[in-house]
Amino acid sequence: AVILGIETSCDETAAALVARDASGNGKILSNVVRSQLDEHAAFGGVVPELAARAHVAFLDHIIEAACRQAGIGLAEVDAIAATAGPGLIGGVLVGLTTAKAIAAALGKPLIAVNHLEAHALTARLTDGVAFPYLMLLVSGGHSQFVLVRGVGDYARWGTTIDDALGEAFDKTAKLLSLGHPGGPALEAAASQGNPRRFRFPRPLLREERLDFSFSGLKTAVRLEAEGLAPLTDKDVADIAASFQATVAEIVAVRARQALERFARELPGHRPLLVVAGGVAANRTIGAGLQRIADETGAELVVPPPALCTDNGAMVAWAGAERLALGAADDLSFAARARWPLDDPDMRILPDAA
Ligand code: ATP
Ligand code: MG
Ligand code: FE
Repeated sequence: AVILGIETSCDETAAALVARDASGNGKILSNVVRSQLDEHAAFGGVVPELAARAHVAFLDHIIEAACRQAGIGLAEVDAIAATAGPGLIGGVLVGLTTAKAIAAALGKPLIAVNHLEAHALTARLTDGVAFPYLMLLVSGGHSQFVLVRGVGDYARWGTTIDDALGEAFDKTAKLLSLGHPGGPALEAAASQGNPRRFRFPRPLLREERLDFSFSGLKTAVRLEAEGLAPLTDKDVADIAASFQATVAEIVAVRARQALERFARELPGHRPLLVVAGGVAANRTIGAGLQRIADETGAELVVPPPALCTDNGAMVAWAGAERLALGAADDLSFAARARWPLDDPDMRILPDAA
């Protein structure tokens, strides 16, 4: 089946065509992403109303481009998948409503995709990983460990009690005047710095729970920066490197605990850790996770960066996986600002299959 996937939940307007064959292998036929960096640059963050307007202005063209690149007309598509939440509600409405209109016009099924499920299933598209696996989702809005038992079947093992990790990168980068989005800018600055110059707090790390907390770290970085002001380039690089080393250590410690729990609770399976979300692009965090995987005998899978940040291919793929199990959604499906992965209505009911 060939699926059109539409993503508009944050500041990427994206569309893609993905094919899934009968044995479950996926192929990306096209993947077009327009990031709204210019629209939001002056504000130092994503402005929801501006984001929604830009999605309205560009989504048609992005879908057209996705079809053109794949050499496939909309009429040849088997189903339309769109992010239906969680996310900025104005943007989600633009993508979901467009998907409904196309589905209605073509008489094809609509798949309302949970954006987090799209991140969670990406590694099955890129690396063909099998269930069950542990996902570490680290993005602009989320930082969580999720046991992925199957399509629609998730158990959340831990989450952040305050900021998401991507948000911590973005806020720290802003504080250091490194620009937006902060993750890549902070990683670049950190590569020139001394990661041992500052020792920042590691909240919750003594506790066994699999939760994160990053807001205290952000405050500690701010106090350090204020104490040193005006900052030299070296100060900025050293703070960035020390911040990055700290979060990499926090993530690594938690990943070890999560993999140990996986080994305890799923003894018949080799522990497999899949990293998802934009922060998965960070090489220092990736290196820390690889070390933990090597030490615990686990396998680590990190999809390519372009498929870790928001894109249409992951939405199309999640739609393809759900469609293959017989799932489809009503045209009345409402957009959701909040939609946890372990929500009961993520489950694909046996009578749908
Ligand atoms: P969510 O999926 O939770 O709704 P989102 O879709 O905005 O959030 P993504 O697009 O998955 O998030 O990821 C964007 C985040 O990833 C930003 O916070 C960005 O700073 C961060 N990020 C991207 N590249 C890097 C990097 N190299 N190092 C650290 N963080 C990064
Ligand atoms: Mg984004
Ligand atoms: Fe995302």
